[in-house]
Amino acid sequence: MPTVLQLRPEADPAAVNAALQGLGVHGEVARGAGGAVIVLGPVSCVVAPGVLADLPGVAAVLAGPSPHPRLDALAWRAVRVGPGDLAIGPGAPPVLIAGPCAAESRAQVDAAAALAAAAGAKLLRGGAYKPRTSPYAFDGAGPDGLGWLRDAADRHGLGLVTEALSEADVERVAAVADLIQIGSRQMQAFALLRAVGRTGRPVLLKRGRAATLAEWRLAAEHLLAAGAPGVVFCERGIAGADPELRNTFDLAGAVLLRCSMGLPVIADPSHAAGRRDVIAPLARAAWAAGLDGVVVEAHADARHALSDGVQALSPAELAALGRALGTARAQEEER
Ligand code: PEP
Ligand code: MN
Repeated sequence: MPTVLQLRPEADPAAVNAALQGLGVHGEVARGAGGAVIVLGPVSCVVAPGVLADLPGVAAVLAGPSPHPRLDALAWRAVRVGPGDLAIGPGAPPVLIAGPCAAESRAQVDAAAALAAAAGAKLLRGGAYKPRTSPYAFDGAGPDGLGWLRDAADRHGLGLVTEALSEADVERVAAVADLIQIGSRQMQAFALLRAVGRTGRPVLLKRGRAATLAEWRLAAEHLLAAGAPGVVFCERGIAGADPELRNTFDLAGAVLLRCSMGLPVIADPSHAAGRRDVIAPLARAAWAAGLDGVVVEAHADARHALSDGVQALSPAELAALGRALGTARAQEEER
């Protein structure tokens, strides 16, 4: 939402604009229904609203400065990911991203990557550093896992999205990831956001379980301010009242960001639902609603998965989802 200055009838728009330039603010003069206005560029957030209101010739400040000018400047544009320049976001076709919750072994990751590729996924997902609620749960294979993920992605022609859990992992993760994931629990870990932003890699920013949409956008602004070239938002469910589902899938919030604000948004129905029977319908709903893609967990042997097995799609289920979304390889080749 740009800031708009309504000018007094007697004001000289060029003189007001010159005063703005003196403040380091770029403005465009336009004719509104009520007379001349000046529409300000995103840099307006560095100037207090009171300073703008007090400028000679200004009758009113019609909209508050945006708290996330860098994000606003990227609206309605896709994020470019990986050496293949995969576009995710407005103007680009939706993407399927699939893979295991965690990288467990070279063979397991390779099998999942094969399934993902056959289903028409563009990126492999999987964590080598896992945030776990229990300190005794499997928390990832670390650097070995990163290597398995990168190798599997390369073997199957996929890009890679994987999580950086702490500042200590950022360099290692950035060395292999095409898209760095910030997990739900880390959405407001600001030192981590700065470190990930500084790598210059695009970021998949999961929504905090209790985060408002405004907090989510500001977390993205932290990444962009630190140097990230783009941020893809990932709706993965927020805290709800009902224990039968892991979280509550906020499709409306995702649609608001994507369709009204023009921000790149994908959905993660796996973590939103936490049970495999509702994942494919949620994925189809997100796709139909106009989001930029879905990310789902899949495992060739979900019963023995070391994390999130109950929400992992089986090979047959992932293949069926690829067919339902129209991404599956056979369908791609038919066209
Ligand atoms: C994940 O993607 O494996 C994960 C831990 O997700 P979230 O941060 O959304 O819980
Ligand atoms: Mn998981």
